[in-house]
Amino acid sequence: MDLKSLWQDVQEELKISVSQTTYQGMLAQTTLLDLKKNIATIGCPNPYLRDLIENRYYSLIKEVLDRQTKEKNSLVFAIDQNQTNSKKIKNLGPLFKKRPDQKPNNQVNPDFGLLPNYNFETFVVGSANNFAHAAAQAIVKNPGQTYNPFFVWGGVGVGKTHLTHAIGNAIAKKNKNFKILYVSAETFTNELVEALQKKTITKFKDKYRKCDCLLVDDIQFIAGKEYSQEEFFHTFNALYLSGRQVVLTSDRKPEEIPKVEDRLISRFMGGLTVDIQPPDYEMRLAILKQKAQEKNFSLSEEVAAFLAETIESNIRELEGALLRLIIKTQSNDSQVDLEFAQNLFGSLKKKKAKRVTPRTVLSRTAKHFSFKTKELCGKSRKSELVTARHIAIYLLRKDLDLPLMKIGDLVGGRDHTSIMYAIDKIEREYSNNQSLRSNINQIRNNLQS
Ligand code: ADP
Ligand code: MG
Repeated sequence: MDLKSLWQDVQEELKISVSQTTYQGMLAQTTLLDLKKNIATIGCPNPYLRDLIENRYYSLIKEVLDRQTKEKNSLVFAIDQNQTNSKKIKNLGPLFKKRPDQKPNNQVNPDFGLLPNYNFETFVVGSANNFAHAAAQAIVKNPGQTYNPFFVWGGVGVGKTHLTHAIGNAIAKKNKNFKILYVSAETFTNELVEALQKKTITKFKDKYRKCDCLLVDDIQFIAGKEYSQEEFFHTFNALYLSGRQVVLTSDRKPEEIPKVEDRLISRFMGGLTVDIQPPDYEMRLAILKQKAQEKNFSLSEEVAAFLAETIESNIRELEGALLRLIIKTQSNDSQVDLEFAQNLFGSLKKKKAKRVTPRTVLSRTAKHFSFKTKELCGKSRKSELVTARHIAIYLLRKDLDLPLMKIGDLVGGRDHTSIMYAIDKIEREYSNNQSLRSNINQIRNNLQS
């Protein structure tokens, strides 16, 4: 089959299904790199456009391609190395007028920064996140009135970003006139710096203070950044006092974010704080199936179970594994059976036993709590530092199996009774202190990465 002419036919149809700007800015820049065994590899000029096109137009492109080929296809989006700018696309003919009935009524305003695929329909609910999910639903019903702010915390890849977008998307769908804004705290900070340099601070303030719902992801990023904190404090107050919804996420509890002003921490804690825990096996399995379905990839029970069992660390890795599987299947032209998956991912199990040195345990633990290793092993009895020190001692004992005396030496010449005390304390608290568990899990994940 001639890929080029097939893709031209697909593009002709796409052209009349979306706005002229969308077509020229995005879909016209795609190519069909490959189509084998009903898996179409679609080339995009850069990673940014690839993510955007995949998130927004997966189903539209699939629908058109399926119609043209009279087959059911899966799509994989890749970077087309040969095509680095849109000028290479030619032969598209005159642009069609946008059909009035094609206006994407249901689409959320792209300026909101929301990813359409991250919605409640694709969010799997289980024991690790059911409370966060229920609270999020309540917020959608009455934005600004129920829990304000809504503060979600948890480790890497547990679904904080997904849930945040889901809230934004659902509020946008219910309230057509609402202005919603999703940003990462990093973007907020970068835009603030830019506004200060370009003297456009009024525009910046307008953008953030005049929205009905502000969603800020990874708020821990503003730690130690005084000016961002100052600006965020005023943004927060402006929104909060006028009853606008604020949603925040972080990798830890508000009170555990270091180097953030107390007045901000107390604002963060003024509404509802919930955590999302790492998913258990059942949830991992359900999410994997959900992702496979979204990508139109048929995954056998056996392979799904193998992946959910092997990849425990976080969902992002699980999703990455699924993508690798899809791409490998396509390039090898082979069946996705258990043996294939075992060959591809069997090595992950071995990786789990990666050797970690005592020095790494100390430095990663210190870094996790924003301390220097020297401080961790020093004399200070500041309570945050003591907890960090106890965790390091606990990990040195549990994961590296070091003798008590040796641990004592490593953490600044402490005697073995204080080491025993520290281990004992963490052991006692471990089962009923969720935040402690989450910190330990994050450090362990980090040590294995
Ligand atoms: P975080 O922001 O907590 O680091 P993300 O929200 O980025 O995690 O999630 C990582 C990946 O896992 C995303 O692709 C997301 O869609 C997926 N994911 C996480 N939790 C769920 C869930 N409950 N249901 C479906 N997908 C999930
Ligand atoms: Mg995130």
